[in-house]
Amino acid sequence: MALTNISLPSLDKIASGKVRDLFALPDPSTLLFVSSDRLSAFDVIMKSGIPNKGAILTLLSAHWFRVLTERIPGLRTHFISLDMPPADVVPAAEARAIRNRSMQVRRLRVLKIEAIVRGYLTGSAWKEYQAKGTVHGLAMPPGMRLSQKFPEAIYTPSTKADLGQHDENIHPDDAWKELGDRETARRVQELSLQIYNTAAAYAEERGIIIADTKFEFAKDAAGNIYLVDEVLTPDSSRFWPKDVYEVGRDQDSFDKQFVRNWLIREGLKGKEGVEVPEDICRATEERYKDAFLKLTGKTFEEAAGN
Ligand code: ATP
Ligand code: MG
Repeated sequence: MALTNISLPSLDKIASGKVRDLFALPDPSTLLFVSSDRLSAFDVIMKSGIPNKGAILTLLSAHWFRVLTERIPGLRTHFISLDMPPADVVPAAEARAIRNRSMQVRRLRVLKIEAIVRGYLTGSAWKEYQAKGTVHGLAMPPGMRLSQKFPEAIYTPSTKADLGQHDENIHPDDAWKELGDRETARRVQELSLQIYNTAAAYAEERGIIIADTKFEFAKDAAGNIYLVDEVLTPDSSRFWPKDVYEVGRDQDSFDKQFVRNWLIREGLKGKEGVEVPEDICRATEERYKDAFLKLTGKTFEEAAGN
């Protein structure tokens, strides 16, 4: 059964996104960050959830936080631990319901930018390239084909739209207008590319191409920048199996593309509250688990202690 509604009566819910719910903890500098099984595609939430998705996203993000912190000196992340708060804060009965789905994180001010990095030409970037030869306004080499690797990864941010609105692609040189100052924009761009390049190399050794991904960053009161949110999951990234990768066509993928393709086929793109058939949900769960196994070297069941 998919868990689409997170209920923790003992904690105050301070925010609820398309997929995650954020809860206050007694220490005001921290949060309990809980991933549901809710499925969003094309910026709207489906009625159906994907069983185990919240736990897969949480355990995979935690894996990446460890890997990235080891490999990138000085990288700050919001991750504190996968531990459940003590029983006097979250009673055992409530804790059971969110097992493997929650992490304690630093509570920070999230920056108003979707920090997208693209290694390969696909999705909305492919559409723009075909029309204008550019990606987020950046000139790209002529003659590129669908799914081709860029000479080097490119930073292609978008605005972070409010609920119900769509994010808008922007030129990287304009990102500072969303962020307030040029130094923050420079640092976010530098970190995004460094994290993508580190992760892409790690994943490629394990048979996965990270075609593109989205990061979120935040600041603490002292102005330090942190990597926050989920990271390098099949929700926030396009993951392609390396062994069958071929330039010039759409790729098979381990991510939400499967659901997106179904929605497009059925003429349901962008429609709220769609009931996604059981077999599509199950196949999506299997893909997410496949990606988890390839990237962490453990089955999801093993990692979850099931
Ligand atoms: P968004 O477009 O803002 O990501 P969403 O619907 O995708 O909206 P979710 O991803 O479901 O939202 O929920 C996570 C929310 O928590 C996001 O708004 C994200 O910016 C925010 N967030 C992530 N990490 C932190 C943090 N460390 N402190 C405060 N807020 C955070
Ligand atoms: Mg989000």
